[in-house]
Amino acid sequence: MEDSKPLKDAWSDHSRLWENNIWVYPVISRRAEGLSIGINLNLDKICSFDCVYCQVDRKIPGPPQRVDIAAIQKELKLIIGEYESNGLASFTNFSQIDASKRQIKDIALSGDGEPTMIKEFTAVCKMLLEVQENYSQYNLKLTLITNSTLLNQKRVQEGLRYLTQKNGEIWAKLDAGSEEWFQKINISPYHLKHIQKNIEEAILQFPIRIQSMWCSYNGELPSSTEIDLYINRVQNIYFKNPKNFLGVQLYTVVRQTARPNVLSVPKEFMEHIAQLIQKEIPVNVKIYE
Ligand code: SF4
Repeated sequence: MEDSKPLKDAWSDHSRLWENNIWVYPVISRRAEGLSIGINLNLDKICSFDCVYCQVDRKIPGPPQRVDIAAIQKELKLIIGEYESNGLASFTNFSQIDASKRQIKDIALSGDGEPTMIKEFTAVCKMLLEVQENYSQYNLKLTLITNSTLLNQKRVQEGLRYLTQKNGEIWAKLDAGSEEWFQKINISPYHLKHIQKNIEEAILQFPIRIQSMWCSYNGELPSSTEIDLYINRVQNIYFKNPKNFLGVQLYTVVRQTARPNVLSVPKEFMEHIAQLIQKEIPVNVKIYE
């Protein structure tokens, strides 16, 4: 069945504003397959990547911030309370969406920067485990969406132990096979080999899903050599611990990017990559266009 226009509009609208909340916002997420409660830990927009496809405009700096865990918890309860009373149907963006498509699925640490960079990361994960336990009737998943730069830090791993204790996942970004394309697309003081090592070590302990963005930048598409190198990286991660490898998500640009000249790739491009991955390893690959 065709997806409805309100549903498509909701997928492409990932506004981080809801009522008077500062940290917590609801989105209808294709990847979560329902309602996802997002937590933006980076009002300051700080990130260890500067991806060309990022939606966050860092020309306008974010306010200095102190992460207020009690305030985040309060905002979470407010949204879940609203969900329990009317399925968030009072939220204009969701009013046209069928109730079956706005079932609560997860709480995701994602936002205007890299969540693991905040010093309160461990305490936030601990609080989320409590929230997950308090609302156990929903079987909520806890998800960290990360660029993986800090997965090697002890305090981050401590947080991830809370986050993945019941039903938690790390969605790790891997957009390149070569350092050259990595620096073109992700722009970072870190090297790709550091990211690779962090993911390979993290998968020994935690469930990981690889998320890869494919786009053209300044008229250049990733080459076939680039794709081969990327697949090799995915394979190496998989073979470290197949049990913890949850799958691959391939996606492209759907929302306005902060930089110009970043264009989406056709679905066939991603289908080709999916086939190449599945030729090498028996993993689930999903495509989002
Ligand atoms: S890692 Fe995420 S938040 Fe950071 S620049 Fe890239 S897309 Fe933006």
